[in-house]
Amino acid sequence: MEVRTRFAPSPTGYLHVGGARTALFSFLYAKKHGGKFILRIEDTDLERSERIFEDQLIDDLRWLGIEWDEGPDIGGPYGPYRQSDRLEIYRKFAQRLIDEGKAYEVYAEPEEIEKLREEILSKSQAPHYTREMLERLSAQKVDEYKKAGKKPAIYFDMPRKEWILPDLVKGEVKFTEDSTGDFAIMRSSGLPTYNFAVVVDDALMKITHVIRGDDHLSNTVKQMALYEAFNFDMPQFGHLSTILGPDRTRLSKRHGSTSVGEYRKRGFLPEALVNYLALLGWSHPQQKEIMSMEEMKNLFDLDRVSKNPAVYDEKKLTWMNGKYIRESSDEKLYELAKPFIVPKLFSEEEYVSSKKWIEKAINALKNDFDELSLLPEKMQIFFVKPVWEKEFLESVKKSGLVIAYKLLVDLYESLDEWSEEKITEATRKAVKESKVKGSEFYHPLRKILTGSESGPDLVTFIFLVGRENIISRLREFLEAL
Ligand code: GLU
Repeated sequence: MEVRTRFAPSPTGYLHVGGARTALFSFLYAKKHGGKFILRIEDTDLERSERIFEDQLIDDLRWLGIEWDEGPDIGGPYGPYRQSDRLEIYRKFAQRLIDEGKAYEVYAEPEEIEKLREEILSKSQAPHYTREMLERLSAQKVDEYKKAGKKPAIYFDMPRKEWILPDLVKGEVKFTEDSTGDFAIMRSSGLPTYNFAVVVDDALMKITHVIRGDDHLSNTVKQMALYEAFNFDMPQFGHLSTILGPDRTRLSKRHGSTSVGEYRKRGFLPEALVNYLALLGWSHPQQKEIMSMEEMKNLFDLDRVSKNPAVYDEKKLTWMNGKYIRESSDEKLYELAKPFIVPKLFSEEEYVSSKKWIEKAINALKNDFDELSLLPEKMQIFFVKPVWEKEFLESVKKSGLVIAYKLLVDLYESLDEWSEEKITEATRKAVKESKVKGSEFYHPLRKILTGSESGPDLVTFIFLVGRENIISRLREFLEAL
């Protein structure tokens, strides 16, 4: 049987890293088993769902390299793939349960049902509704509701028995007979509830493996009962553990960025983010840390997914991103850096005409940043004249290096060509002819030219800043002595 998995987000906010991990694991599982991955938009909470979130979700998933075989934007044989376009289907299936006596109409306002709940609670009983209770409440209202043209809600008559879920991640999960009572499957507004729509859709879309966050574990008993009531084939379930922050509390803003969009804005590479997300609860058979999507598609399986909570560590993700940055070609970084640099440092045209220079500059700085958004600030080093502290000026004055640096200016000025090779030659010549020690000469030179003790390769830096600017930085320094 073909493996079919799905990701079923509600478009009520931006794609969270936890959601992205769920999507990734579902996707990888399908791909590993040569199956299909489906995207379904669960937007029946009309008040909270927004089209802009759906569009952003789709954009973020694509950016991550997660691709679906069927979905709201591309269609497929079991569509539509947006729940708000499937309302007729839910009504039909709810009616089927009513006809079979497995569900019933309830004529009552949500507040009245809430009141009933409080009543049950006040008798120290589990807050579960029974058919008898709801029908009694409803009986008093039927005529009134019908006259007013109001629609009833539909409740499922939950069979009271023990349920056993053989979860692919958690192992065997038991639900006792009294774990839940009757529950709404359709609201009086005509909209389905999550637990109902999800079952109808997963069944009709022939989903074989439901992989999702363990916040849905307690819902699963309701869903299992619905599968049974419809005589649908039950999919297999795999509930992924929660993601915690380094302090072992639920992951939140306090721990750093939590949405995929924020990481995009900060200049994370999708390959790095996906790689990091894969390791949130799953591990490579040989404990490899850095791997491509292709490798993950070949290797991923649920038997290596841990049932313990995964700990999210933004520092590690940032480190990983730095690693991906350093392994990227100059050409690729040039493309990736563009939205961060244009128009801050260069205009669109300059970015094209200075391609070679920009590639070299990014390459020279590669070890100094782990997020592309830091690049404009790092690049300032090429444009901003350094300032020298008094102490530094004094120390150079005393050192006897002044003659050497004067010679260096002359040599740079007389170069027939401004290339790294010629710069290296001229610099070495200045050291040799002025008879100073190389080690004593280079360190202050870096500080004179860059204003800092460390940074990119000095010759590359000198080359990139350009002859005129380097000569004027040197001359100004010598004058300041
Ligand atoms: N729309 C649900 C959510 O976003 C889907 C849960 C599920 O995968 O069944 O949490």
